[in-house]
Amino acid sequence: MPNNSLPDHEFTSSELRAIERNVLGKRWSLWAGVAAVLLPLVILLGLQYWWLTDLEHNSAIARKATLENYLDAIAKEVEYYYTTAAERALNLPTYVFTEGKVEKAGYLFKKKPISGAKHLFIVDFTEKKKTTIRFYNPEDHTMGTPDWSDDSLAVWAASSPWHWYRSKDVAVESAALAVDQHDPWNRIVFNPITDDESKLVGLAGLIIDQQFFEDKLLPKAISKALPELEERHGLIVCVRDGRGRQVLPSTPFMDPHSDGVRRHFSFVFTDWTVSLQGKFTEPQKLARTNFVYNITLSALLAAALVAGIVFTLRTALREMRLSAMKNEFVSNVSHELRTPLSSIRVFGEFMRRGRVTDQDKVREYGGYIETESRRLTQLINNILDFSRIESGRKVYTFEPEDLEEVLTGTLATFGVRLRDSGIEVAYHGPEEPLPEIEVDANAIDRAVANLLDNAVKYSDGGQRIEVGLEERDGEILISVTDEGIGIPRDEQKRIFERFHRVSTGLVHDVKGSGLGLSLVQHIVEAHGGRVTVDSEVGRGSTFTIHLPMPGPGAKGA
Ligand code: ADP
Repeated sequence: MPNNSLPDHEFTSSELRAIERNVLGKRWSLWAGVAAVLLPLVILLGLQYWWLTDLEHNSAIARKATLENYLDAIAKEVEYYYTTAAERALNLPTYVFTEGKVEKAGYLFKKKPISGAKHLFIVDFTEKKKTTIRFYNPEDHTMGTPDWSDDSLAVWAASSPWHWYRSKDVAVESAALAVDQHDPWNRIVFNPITDDESKLVGLAGLIIDQQFFEDKLLPKAISKALPELEERHGLIVCVRDGRGRQVLPSTPFMDPHSDGVRRHFSFVFTDWTVSLQGKFTEPQKLARTNFVYNITLSALLAAALVAGIVFTLRTALREMRLSAMKNEFVSNVSHELRTPLSSIRVFGEFMRRGRVTDQDKVREYGGYIETESRRLTQLINNILDFSRIESGRKVYTFEPEDLEEVLTGTLATFGVRLRDSGIEVAYHGPEEPLPEIEVDANAIDRAVANLLDNAVKYSDGGQRIEVGLEERDGEILISVTDEGIGIPRDEQKRIFERFHRVSTGLVHDVKGSGLGLSLVQHIVEAHGGRVTVDSEVGRGSTFTIHLPMPGPGAKGA
């Protein structure tokens, strides 16, 4: 064939890669853009990390302060109870001591009853060398001399330092409540009673009832703060005495090492501690959880952003590759246009000049001209169809057609092209006549012509092409089988992409635009069908168009 000798150029895969590199190289701005996004992102993440670490630290402090406030409230409640109770009950007038009306104290204690005191007592210093201790008897409201017992001993021991004031006649500056806790079982609150010259005349005091403290006062003080602690923070309050015994809660056992925030009681029971236990009693733990949560969120956002960038980059790279393919397409098409045109011109010229007189030669050259113009028409039709499809202007006109008629028409036209090529096309029609189906006959003709054209182009010396039409499993199948070069498995999906051409050596020798199969696919899909390929390198290929059979209602429509 004369056109085989005409110069041709198609890109090799390495050339293609070079184009790609070139395009990418020129698109350095794209990489600059990526860096411009990634760099601030990394800086942002760094700042976020720094900020969260700072926040973690601060929120740990803030949380600690909040929890300490709760503990303060509990301790203050206890202090408030004992100070008000002591101030109320122990506030005896001076005359009780100075005028020897010690019994009057019983009457006054009776008038101001309080809970939480094991004993109320007075210590009388009015006689200089003698100290008299009297315990209040709540049953008959008298003031009696106590027996020797732990309680009375504790009062003796605790009141002895006050003797010093009395014996030295030292003025007691502030007559505030005083606490003695040397005996942990008999914690004593004193109210020093002074005369007009601030000289100590006696003490009014009470011994604290520890049972009352444990069973009544503590639970009450805790329950005031508890609802919020439990609901908002999921915390349990734990109280331990001076030796570490768990006083509250009575059950379950709380590990002392898990005590989070803790503080000592004030005023009395100062060796006891109140602490908080729970998931987040250690403020650092909560802050760490927050930190991990926030940093994970940031990392996820950053990952999403990076994924977005990668996606954009991939799209951009695809567009670049497409643009390289388009370049190749333009080059291919220009060759495809030029080659048949120059053949037509050369053969036309031969005939015009009358150089060819032999009738057989005239027929042969005329045949070349006809074949080449058909090739041109096919190419131009493909390009026009492609441009219509790309711009969304491609319109299909569906009409009921006999597919066998359409197919034999296509084969007849194609046969002219193959007349002298030595390639034989065998047609296998359906066993039974097929129903008419709604198709765009022109489009189907073009699709089959493209498959036939490929079968010839990639025949590689194969002499036989088989065309089949049959009905199978509710579909009408049009198949074109060749014995050509075949298509590698990993390329079989991609050959339907526009501009895509297999880049192995053999295909290289064949010109093409890379549009044919993408058009076939578009046409077939517009008919609600699909196109499949079954191929093996060196054995040949079968392309099959699957068209849906019309439903029973549609028959003959
Ligand atoms: P082209 O104009 O390159 O033929 P197509 O879209 O028709 O474009 O085909 C895409 C690619 O698929 C071809 O370049 C070729 O590599 C491969 N191909 C198509 N048909 C066949 C076939 N019958 N045998 C082998 N390879 C084929």
